[in-house]
Parts: sequence; structure tokens; C-alpha cells
Amino acid sequence: MNASRLSAAHEPDAEKAFFVADLSVVYRQHQRWKACLPEIQPFYAVKCNPDPYVIRLLASLGAGFDCASNNEISQVLDLGGIDPSNLIFANPCKAASFIRNAAKRGVDMMTFDNSDELYKIARAHPGARCVVRILTDDSKSLCAFGIKFGAPLGTVPGLLAKAKELKLDVVGVSFHVGSGCYDPSVYMDAIMRARTVFDMGREVGYTFGLLDVGGGFEDGLFEQAAAVLTKAIDRYFPDRRDLRIIAEPGRYYVSKAFRLAANIIARRAPLLGEPSQVVEASSPDTTSDQPTVMYYINDGVYGAFNCILFDHQVVHPYVLSMNGSFHVSDSEEKNVSSVWGPTCDSIDCVCPKTILPVGLRVGDWLGFDNMGAYTVCAASQFNGFEVSKVIYTMGGIGSLEVRNALANFAAEGHGL
Ligand SMILES: *Cc1c(COP(=O)(O)O)cnc(C)c1O
Repeated sequence: MNASRLSAAHEPDAEKAFFVADLSVVYRQHQRWKACLPEIQPFYAVKCNPDPYVIRLLASLGAGFDCASNNEISQVLDLGGIDPSNLIFANPCKAASFIRNAAKRGVDMMTFDNSDELYKIARAHPGARCVVRILTDDSKSLCAFGIKFGAPLGTVPGLLAKAKELKLDVVGVSFHVGSGCYDPSVYMDAIMRARTVFDMGREVGYTFGLLDVGGGFEDGLFEQAAAVLTKAIDRYFPDRRDLRIIAEPGRYYVSKAFRLAANIIARRAPLLGEPSQVVEASSPDTTSDQPTVMYYINDGVYGAFNCILFDHQVVHPYVLSMNGSFHVSDSEEKNVSSVWGPTCDSIDCVCPKTILPVGLRVGDWLGFDNMGAYTVCAASQFNGFEVSKVIYTMGGIGSLEVRNALANFAAEGHGL
């Protein structure tokens, strides 16, 4: 509303796109996690969205953190009040200097999946608590990681023997079923493999005490995934008195917590009474289901919508405000339209085909839901367009708890 008013007053930059982060959503996801997976401590995967308030909130709620670089480790530890034992350096291929820095900061838990990494860890952080990242079936996910990370089971006994020879402490097993996992049954097989690796560890003389079930949790399938995991853990780890179980959820926590508002900065539409140029340009055989109007908004695939390219997302715009009004009647006449980002690159297409009201004009606002995961963190400033800023809210159930959690965190002198 404010943006609309400032824009009407010709305030510079009033029409900038912005995120709205509802921190209560993050809180509610945490409650849901604790209800469904009470035995598993979540280590939030910072790379998914390193938003400072999400991190403060999760820290004050008792979550740990999965970091993959020096900067992520610093970002979390510099807040203060977070014990380094609640961090896992979950990147199996780290620069030697990063391992040394982790040692300096007291971050001991780190993953590996190859023998070169073991040599590096033995040199740079001999007191590390190593976690072997194994390969599991990641074919049922939006973003598979298996072509890059994970030790095939056949290589694990050799790796563990090498770790033993280097006098390293291997404390457990991790895996990642792939980000955005749409078939939770894969957790069953993954836990079975982890069990096998616990037994391999015992052969070499290790007694593992850590099981890290990774990330991949999808909001809509969370209960199902939790049920499969619980069953699998009961089956393969029936006696787990000395077992610490952690996970590395990323998108589960933030996907729905962030929405994006973007301004229509330009429009290409046929002049009244003229045949559509747009249709002729895009396809010679004019059919009525082709977009007839192109909207250009002020965030695109080089910015927040990089999730379309990198995270294989499909986004659905809706009208936030039209002609200064937030009430857009469903009976508005509609056009098949396309939505484009602001840069001069034609790959910068946000939505190739969607239905939007005919009356939509330059200056109106479009909204996009589920914009919290793998969006703002990978946005570039290509072509001179700034990364959209975040505005924070807390609404509905959990708003009071969020307020208190953040206030307590600050009162203890953290995050300042
Ligand atoms: C990206 C990543 C995660 C988070 O995955 P989500 O699918 O967002 O839950 C967790 N662990 C590791 C090692 C990762 O690389």
C-alpha cells in the first residue's frame, strides 16, 4: 500500500519489487517439525535462505545450522549465543583454508565423501568429528546432488579404513535424498544404507553416534516424509539410546514464508483494434491460446526468479493491486499473457504463459507466493538491477512467540 502511495507521489524507487517475509510461518514450520520428528534436531541449511532474521529466530528456537562455507559459518557464529557444536560443515569438498578456519571457530562436525578430503582434514583439523556422506537414490527430487556428492557404498569401507589410518574420528553418517524430494519413500532406502554404513564402521573399529538424514523435505509432503523416516529409523535403528539424529532441512522452513511483490514497469499489448503483434512475433500460426500481452516486471530470473533456472520452479503470478485497488473482482475479463523480468536478456522470462486481467496496466503490482527458498540468496545484480529487499511481518498463530524469541535473543546481547 505504501509502495503504491509513494509511487503515485512520484517518489524515486517507490515501485521497487520487495519480499514480504512472515516469520510466523517459520515458527509454525518449526512446531510442525517438533510434532512430527521429535527425535530429530533440525540443522537449518543456511544456503537455502541466509536471511538474518530467519537465522536469529531458528537459533533462538534451538535449531542447529548446516553451513557450507566460511562466510556461512561466520554469519551464524557472529550472531553470538550459538554453540559451534550446533553447526555442521556439511560440504564434502572444502578448501583446506576453510577447514582450518572451521577448526579455529570451533566447528568440528564436517562431512567427507572422498579420501583426498580425509587427508586435508587430517592436516587442517585433526580433531574434527567427521561424518561420511553416502550416496542415496536422489532420482525423485527437483535437484539431485548424487552426480556431485556422496560416497557409493562400495567405497565406504576403504574410506573408513583410510580415516582410521589417519587417526581421524568418524562419528557418523549423512546423506541427502536431493532437494525438493517428491517421493518420500526414498528415505526408507537411505536409512537402510546408513545402517549398513554404521555396521561397516564397527568393522573398522568406529562406534558411530550420529545419523544425519539431510534435507529434501517438501512442505506439502512433510508429514508423509516424517512418517517414512520414523518407520525407517524404528526398523533400522531400534536401539538408539546413544544415537543423535539430526537433519538439514532448508526449503521446508522458508519456502512459504516469503512472498514477492513486483511492479509492472512496462507492457507490450496490441493497440486496440489491431491484430496482435505479440502473437505474430512468437508464432506464425495464430492460435487464441498464445499470450497476447507481455508484462515486464522489476524482478526476474537474474534476481529472485533465479529459482526458475537453478531450482526448476514454476511460478504463478496473481494480481496484488490494479489501478490502485487491492480488490480485484474475479469477473474481470482476462487475457493469456506472459511475464518478463527487467533485464535486456530474452532468457529473462518469469512466466511464459498465464492468465491475467485485461485491465492490468503499467504501475500495477503482481504477487508471487512460495518465494523463500533458493531465491534471494542466489540473486545477481546483472544489468544493474538491485536485489529486492525484504520486509518482515509476523501474523496469525506464532506471532507472539516470534516476537518474544527475537526479543530474548537480542536481550541476551546476540545478533547485534
Ligand atoms: C542444499 C542442502 C540442504 C538443504 O536441502 P533442502 O532440500 O532445501 O532441504 C541440506 N544439506 C545439504 C548438504 C545441502 O547441500
